[in-house]
Amino acid sequence: MPGYELWSDKERKEVNDVLETGILMRYGFDGPRNGIWKSKELEAAVNETFGSKYAQLTSSGTAALTTAMSALGIGYGDEVITPSFTFVASFEAVLSVGAVPVLVDVDDTLTLNPEAVRKAITPKTKAVMPVHMCGSMADMDALIAICKEHNLILLEDACQSIGGTYKGKHLGTIGDAGTFSFDFVKTMTCAEGGVVMTSREDIYIKSDGYTDHGHDHKGVDRGADLHPFIGYNYRISELHAAVGLAQIKRLNEFLTIQKMNHRLLKSILEQVPEISFRRIPDPAGDSCSFISWFLPTEEITRAVVAELKAQGILAGNFYWFDNNWHYIRKWDHLKNAITLNSLSPELKERVTQQANKDFAASDAIMSRCISTSISLLWTEEQIKEKGEKMVSTIRKVLQNRAVTI
Ligand SMILES: *Cc1c(COP(=O)(O)O)cnc(C)c1O
Repeated sequence: MPGYELWSDKERKEVNDVLETGILMRYGFDGPRNGIWKSKELEAAVNETFGSKYAQLTSSGTAALTTAMSALGIGYGDEVITPSFTFVASFEAVLSVGAVPVLVDVDDTLTLNPEAVRKAITPKTKAVMPVHMCGSMADMDALIAICKEHNLILLEDACQSIGGTYKGKHLGTIGDAGTFSFDFVKTMTCAEGGVVMTSREDIYIKSDGYTDHGHDHKGVDRGADLHPFIGYNYRISELHAAVGLAQIKRLNEFLTIQKMNHRLLKSILEQVPEISFRRIPDPAGDSCSFISWFLPTEEITRAVVAELKAQGILAGNFYWFDNNWHYIRKWDHLKNAITLNSLSPELKERVTQQANKDFAASDAIMSRCISTSISLLWTEEQIKEKGEKMVSTIRKVLQNRAVTI
């Protein structure tokens, strides 16, 4: 999965360029920086690599989502429809702009169920935010149609699907705006960082100002910048951008290995007829950072997870249903709207109401799902060994069950 696994001299070289000048900040200091502009270079490389028109780097993927939402005018009173299966950052960002996260069910794509989205639309709905989880994509045609029909913003949380595509377009570049995270475990990393991508100039200009205290960046003197609106500091540093610049040049190398390892491991798991795989709306666009697979029942899935653990081979296999980070079931802090700063009573009530809905349809999917992360460091031998061990463990559990039935 992650680019950190292949840390190299290339990353060191880019970081050293910045260390040579000592100008660690992305703006200003034009003379002393000696022509080194890693953040600008990385933004250009993002546009070139992913086909976006504009790119604004941020200090994290979460900051990118918050920035995009602010730039898109999402805020007080608005509802943002987003899936029950995601990383906590998705709803954190919605809350950070004062909007209400409306979590809805996922289907066997592990992303938004378009029918559930339709049912969740109210006069307050402002945006739909699909999350392209675990390297693969939501059903974008269906979501685009819904957004057009109801005049809603489409914001893609593509933080986990760098390099994935849908019908030839990169995930994150299809909606009004999209975001990547470049945190340490993402497909390419800056250590910490993120980006907002958009084809709309207005959204880009707002994102640019918002991430730097609202400075309009029109002159060369930062002190003379005007502030058309209030912003925050979500800037990336030159050191972080330098790491990302080395990594983006290696992204194809990462993706090629990822796809190769994915293909081999999947071909081994496919030997078990009781295993089914995640539905992928455009299979050619899977970034292949995970293989997500289903077993017939929750009970069997739990037994397989327990047996993988007993065999010492659970590492890299994620049972999201029991995971505190990624699925609504364990998000008690959201269900109770526990924040450090007090929320408006209206927002608090709407947040808790939304988070305590019935997610039985998501449970039915997630309770049977295991995702296996794909390492870039595996040898062919290791993949075969891992795959065979997994298959024999799964078969053992299935056989035991057959005997007891
Ligand atoms: C990683 C991630 C984020 C946030 O990224 P950070 O850079 O860690 O803040 C947002 N959404 C999803 C789906 C993620 O996986």
